[in-house]
Parts: sequence; structure tokens; C-alpha cells
Amino acid sequence: MPGLPLRPRVGVVKLTSCDGCQLTILDLEEELLSIVEAFDIVDFPEATSSRSSGPYDILFVEGSVSAPDQVERLAELRARSTLLVAIGACATAGGIQALRNWGEVGDWAATVYPDPSLLQVLDRVTPISDHVKVDVEVRGCPISPDQLRELLAALLAGRRPQLPDEAVCLECKRRGLTCVVVAAGATCLGPVTRSGCGAICPSFGRGCYGCFGPREQPNVASLVSRFELDGLAPDEARRRFAGINAWAEPYRDAIPRGGGARPELAAAGVPGETEAADARR
Ligand code: SF4
Ligand code: SF4
Repeated sequence: MPGLPLRPRVGVVKLTSCDGCQLTILDLEEELLSIVEAFDIVDFPEATSSRSSGPYDILFVEGSVSAPDQVERLAELRARSTLLVAIGACATAGGIQALRNWGEVGDWAATVYPDPSLLQVLDRVTPISDHVKVDVEVRGCPISPDQLRELLAALLAGRRPQLPDEAVCLECKRRGLTCVVVAAGATCLGPVTRSGCGAICPSFGRGCYGCFGPREQPNVASLVSRFELDGLAPDEARRRFAGINAWAEPYRDAIPRGGGARPELAAAGVPGETEAADARR
């Protein structure tokens, strides 16, 4: 971590995203007063009408890169920031919107918008690390308040943040939760997904769908085999990775060419699904 001033200048900006990760910052209600004392929040449109074009000691960036102007804007923001922190699944992996990478952007646009010619979008949705150097990544959809607290404390202390990289399964074990795979035969991405949520989904009796993204060195192929042993068809087993972190490696490699296209939707004539289903054959 580079040395930061006593009261660092902080910006919080967004690209393509839903604002949920920024809201996680505002949800730290108990700590908000301490945060604004410790950090000089100079730009945070979600929270204040004050604006600054930098320089920033710390810049939090939410959202993926999906439009040409965002590429330029991101490069400018990076040049004005000492530390750049990517927050959330969109910024670190492309987010749910990266599911469009398995199809043609023009097809999606024609399906959704009355006049797609007005749209200026890139062919691919990408995480910000594909474009600029990122100093810290905070995963999740949305990010974990506990991990955010740890990051802010580490930034003030000038130390490296201790962000976990263990499987959700370990959180299940620590909480004494019954494994939904063993007990109910559910499909669960917990063994290959980074912890941070407190195993919320298994605590409600359902499998994890991977919103914190892949942990380091996940054995995705083995989990796909396990899903198949449990009765899922091969494509269906692989399509389980086509979610919020679909574009993150190695989830991305597991997903069939059709990228989660559903044959039943193709059969119903949903635009774009026929081609996607064909590509999977
Ligand atoms: S429920 Fe999922 S996350 Fe929890 S122990 Fe079982 S496989 Fe792992
Ligand atoms: S269990 Fe999985 S899908 Fe559910 S909140 Fe946690 S990481 Fe996200």
C-alpha cells in the first residue's frame, strides 16, 4: 500500500452498475460519521452534490466497462488516483450484464430498444482490470460490509487488507449449517466460490450461485462432474456458472458456447435464443 495522507481524499464513482455496492458504503450507518471524519469524501454522487475531478488518494470504482466513453473516463480517473479500488462483481468480473458477451450485442439491443441506433456500447462487457491497473478488488454482489470495514481500517492503518479467499463451504462449517448438497441434493457453487457473505443462501436451504465469484484455484471441472453425477445434463451443469460472475475465469470457461441460452426459451421463439441454442449443439 502506498503511503496516504492523514485524511485521504476519496472519490466514489460508477460505470455500468446498479449502485448497490455504493449503497453498501452508505449502509455502514454506525460508522458513517467516523468515516467522514477519517476520509475527505470529495466526490460521491450517490451521497453528496459536492464534486471533484481529483486528484484522489483513494478512488472506489463500481461497475463494468460497457460503453466506449467509459474506457476514456476510466483511464483519466486512473491517472488522477493514487489507489484504485474496484468494488463489486460488475467492476471485478463484468457483472450480470456480461452475460450478453455470449451473444451479439446488436441482437440484444434490437430486442430491448425501439431505436438501437441511439446506443453506443462496446461488443463486450469487461471488468475494469481489463483496462487499467487495479490496486484492490473487493468482490461480491453487493460487496460485504465486513470486508468494506476491513478495507477502510487497513487503508487508514497503511496495511494490506485481509480479504478472505476461502470457499463458502468454510463459512457453512463455521456456522454449523447443514450442507444443502448432502442433505437435499441441491446444486451449490459454494466449493468454488469466495466467502464473504456468511453463507447466506445455504442458511436459507438453497445452494450458492456464486455472487462472490471464484476463489483462487477453484476446481470448477470437478464441481461440474459432481453436478452431472447428481443428474444434471452436461450443458445444464455448466450453465450453473452463467450468473453474476459469469465472465470471471474459470467460471467463464465452464459455460457452454450458448452462454446459458435456454432451449425452452428458444422453443418459445424468444429472440436470440435460437441462435444461442444452435451454438451449443
Ligand atoms: S451448502 Fe454449499 S457452501 Fe455450504 S458446505 Fe454445502 S456445498 Fe459448501
Ligand atoms: S451463498 Fe453464494 S450466492 Fe448466496 S450470498 Fe453467498 S456467495 Fe452469494
